Amino acid sequence: MISQMAIDFAEKEIRPHFMEWDESQYFPVEVFKKLGELGMMGVLVPTEYGGSGFSYNEYIVVIEEISKVCGSIGLSVAAHNSLCTGHILQFASEDQKKKYLPKLASAEWIGAWGLTEANTGSDAMRMKTTAVKDGEYWVLNGTKNWITHGVSGDVAVVLARTGELLDSHGITAFIIERSTPGFEAGKKENKLGMRASETAELIFSDCRVHESQVIGKVGEGFVQAMKVLDGGRISIGALSLGIAKGALDASIKYSKEREQFGQAISRFQAIAFKLADMATEIEAAEMLLYQAAYLKNNGLKCTKESAMAKYYASEVAVRCATEGVQIFGGYGYTKDFPVEKFYRDSKLCTIGEGTSEIQKLVISREVLKG
Ligand SMILES: Cc1cc2nc3c(=O)[nH]c(=O)nc-3n(C[C@H](O)[C@H](O)[C@H](O)COP(=O)(O)OP(=O)(O)OC[C@H]3O[C@@H](n4cnc5c(N)ncnc54)[C@H](O)[C@@H]3O)c2cc1C
Repeated sequence: MISQMAIDFAEKEIRPHFMEWDESQYFPVEVFKKLGELGMMGVLVPTEYGGSGFSYNEYIVVIEEISKVCGSIGLSVAAHNSLCTGHILQFASEDQKKKYLPKLASAEWIGAWGLTEANTGSDAMRMKTTAVKDGEYWVLNGTKNWITHGVSGDVAVVLARTGELLDSHGITAFIIERSTPGFEAGKKENKLGMRASETAELIFSDCRVHESQVIGKVGEGFVQAMKVLDGGRISIGALSLGIAKGALDASIKYSKEREQFGQAISRFQAIAFKLADMATEIEAAEMLLYQAAYLKNNGLKCTKESAMAKYYASEVAVRCATEGVQIFGGYGYTKDFPVEKFYRDSKLCTIGEGTSEIQKLVISREVLKG
C-alpha cells in the first residue's frame, strides 16, 4: 500500500513537472508539503510525535519509488527524514522532540542538516564553524556548505566546534530556527544533477543560540552525526536503487521498441547482456540495503552494512544510468528521454553522505577490527 501510494504520488505530482524543475533549479516546496500530508516526511517518526511510525523497510520503499521518477525529490525527502529529523529523533530531549518533530513530520517545517564546510567535507572533524559559550547562550560563527534546504529549510541541525581541533568530543549539535538573528542562507549551488533539490550555504555571524537548543550533551555532536549517517546512508542507498531501477525500466522498454537492422535492439546480445548485468546488480544492491535496514530496525550496529549498501548501490546507480544512456544511443543524450537525467542525478549518490572512497574506509576499518 505504501509503495502504491508513493508510485501514485510520483506519477501525479512529480512526473508532469520534473524536467521543468530540473531546468530552472526550482525547489518545489509545495510538493514536500503534500508529501507531509501523506506521512512521507516523517516516515520513521513515531505516531506520538505526528509521524508515520514505520520502519526502514517502508522508508526504503518511499524513497525508491519517488527516485524512480525524480532523484532530486528523492534526495530532499531522504535529507529531511534522515538527517535533520533523524538527528532530533535519535538524540534530542523529550521537550525538543515534542517541539520539532510534529512540525517536521508534517512538513509544516522543512529541515536542513549542516555538517560540511568548504574545506572540510570528508574530513568533517576539522570544521571551522565555532560555538562559544556566553552566559546561557552559544555564539556561532562560520559557514556551512552544500546544505540541502540551505535556503528553504525552516530549521537546521548544525554541528559546530565547541572544543579542540581534531577532538572527536569537541563538536556539538544545535537546533537553530531560521528566524534566529545572525543565521542566513548564502550562495545556492548550480549543480550537474539533483537540480530540484536545493543545495546552499548556511552562514552564521554572531548567531546567538540558547543552551536549550543543544542536542544531547556538549561535545557529543560528532559521534551523534556519525550515527545519523549510518541511517542516512541507507536512504542514499534507497535513492540509488530507485535511480538504477528507473534507468533499467526505461532501458527495457526502449530496447524492445527501438529497431535497428530489422529487429528490436533487445535481440542483440550486447544489449540484452547489459540489461542482465543491470538487473543482477540491482538485486544485489537491494539485498545489501535490506540487510542494513534489518539491523537498523532491530537497534543493532549497522555501520559496516549501511556503508556497504550505500557504496554498492550508488556505484550500481551510476553504472545503470550510464548503460541506460548507451542503450538509448543518441536519444539517450537528449533531454527528451529520462536516462540523461538519471545519468546526471546518479553521480551525487557516490558523493553525498560520504564518498565511495570514504565508504571503503569505513568498511575496511570495520573488517580489519575483526
Ligand atoms: C547535492 C549535495 C547535497 C549535499 N547535502 C549535504 C547536507 O545536507 N549536509 C551536509 O552536511 N553536507 C551535504 N553535502 C556534502 C557532502 O556530504 C560532501 O560533498 C561529501 O561528504 C564530500 O565532501 P567534499 O565534497 O568536500 O569532497 P572531499 O572531501 O574534498 O573529497 C574529494 C575527493 O577526495 C577523496 N578523499 C577525501 N578524503 C579521502 C581519504 N581519506 N581517502 C581517500 N579518498 C579521500 C574523496 O573520496 C573525493 O573523491 C552535500 C553534497 C552535495 C553534492
